[in-house]
Amino acid sequence: MPQLTIIIFSIFPQNLAGMKKMALHWKILIGMVLGVLFGLLMVNFSWGKEFVQDWIKPFGTIFINALKLIAVPLILGSLITGVSDLKDISKLSKMGGKTVVTYLITTIIAVSIGLLLVNVLVPGKSITESTRTELVSNYAQSTEKYKEEAKNQKEQGPLKALVDLVPDNIIGASGENKNMLQVIFFAIFFGIGLILLPEERAKPVKDFFSSFNEVILKMIDLIMLAAPYGVFALLAALIVESPSKDLFVALLWYSFTVVLGLALMISIYIGLVFAFTGKKPGAFLQGISPAQLLAFSTSSSAATLPVTMERVSEHLGVEEEVSSFVLPIGATINMDGTSLYQAVAAVFIAQAFGMELSLGAQLGIVATATLASIGSAAVPGAGMVMLVIVLAQAGIPEAGLALIFAVDRPLDMCRTVVNVTGDATVSMIVAKSEGKLGEPHVRDWDDSYESKKKSPGIL
Ligand code: ASP
Repeated sequence: MPQLTIIIFSIFPQNLAGMKKMALHWKILIGMVLGVLFGLLMVNFSWGKEFVQDWIKPFGTIFINALKLIAVPLILGSLITGVSDLKDISKLSKMGGKTVVTYLITTIIAVSIGLLLVNVLVPGKSITESTRTELVSNYAQSTEKYKEEAKNQKEQGPLKALVDLVPDNIIGASGENKNMLQVIFFAIFFGIGLILLPEERAKPVKDFFSSFNEVILKMIDLIMLAAPYGVFALLAALIVESPSKDLFVALLWYSFTVVLGLALMISIYIGLVFAFTGKKPGAFLQGISPAQLLAFSTSSSAATLPVTMERVSEHLGVEEEVSSFVLPIGATINMDGTSLYQAVAAVFIAQAFGMELSLGAQLGIVATATLASIGSAAVPGAGMVMLVIVLAQAGIPEAGLALIFAVDRPLDMCRTVVNVTGDATVSMIVAKSEGKLGEPHVRDWDDSYESKKKSPGIL
């Protein structure tokens, strides 16, 4: 078996890595397609699933771990540098205000699109009584853990989120219970401290974090070299582990509604970027596509954050003072794809149970889905946990979670793409309004590799 793994990884990726001139998003895309094909091939063998789980999936896990590993140092390095470069606290609060308001606006647009589509297409009508019973009995067990998690969240007091913002221990915040908002809080606080120090006292620390940041960006370049392999392993594992496909068909109309909404949202981003910054759709998509593909493969905006930050600042021209501030906050609080999905899912479940939702109830969904998406963690399946709260608020049976469970993972992959694209869009809009949207300055691995060959010692 180990030999087979070596053969698999050496056949295609070696050639992919060798294709230095091919754009990164093509390499990742090829890795994804090969991963899906390989998974589909392996399910035909009795030993296929075990083989993929034992010998292929771990490489996907290593890849995600490496991305997550880099997230905390990246936020610390780039945010401390970014905030201290602002030189003025009032600029920071102005940018913070703009960021949060723009995030809220895009989220409300997303929820409204979701509600509109689900009311027009009425996917819940396609679920017959017998399919509903089958889905509920098949997946009731699997959804228990989501309900449990949601219950824990609900039991917390109203100011818990605020209290959670301030860590009592920065090592703890960035360690075991990795809390991005706490790390962001610390970095901004530290950056403000630096602004307030006299220039000559602050300079050594600023210089340190600026170089620290450069090192982290270089590490991301290195991790990205492994991206085609990583997504290959992730998607192959996903295919062999995916549940029975029979019930997918029953949920086709629902899935179509969600995906259509997400696609509309992407086109709205493209329009917004063009209207506010003049960046052409092709250039925007080309710049952000590797992050989108990773979002799709990992289902986690947190794991994708390092790549989103790199793409936005180096390929879309957003200056680091803005990207280092807007993107980590966005990865944690701005989830337009998730909120759109929650709106569609909630109404779909109500329709499938034959419930009529009043306009008031639907407006309630706009409010709770917006808040729930802010509260959702940027990890796979988080949207489903917060959906429980949206359902409870609207008086829709929680048992309905079992109805949509079978297709949650593929939809999670799609909504994460939207979450990441939304963050990138808002960072461009904020950068433009602050006069900090410049020309892209690509600092690609390939370039560094080439320059290293010319001048040894410089990577
Ligand atoms: N997976 C999503 C994200 O990380 C969250 C969710 O919708 O479940 O952005």
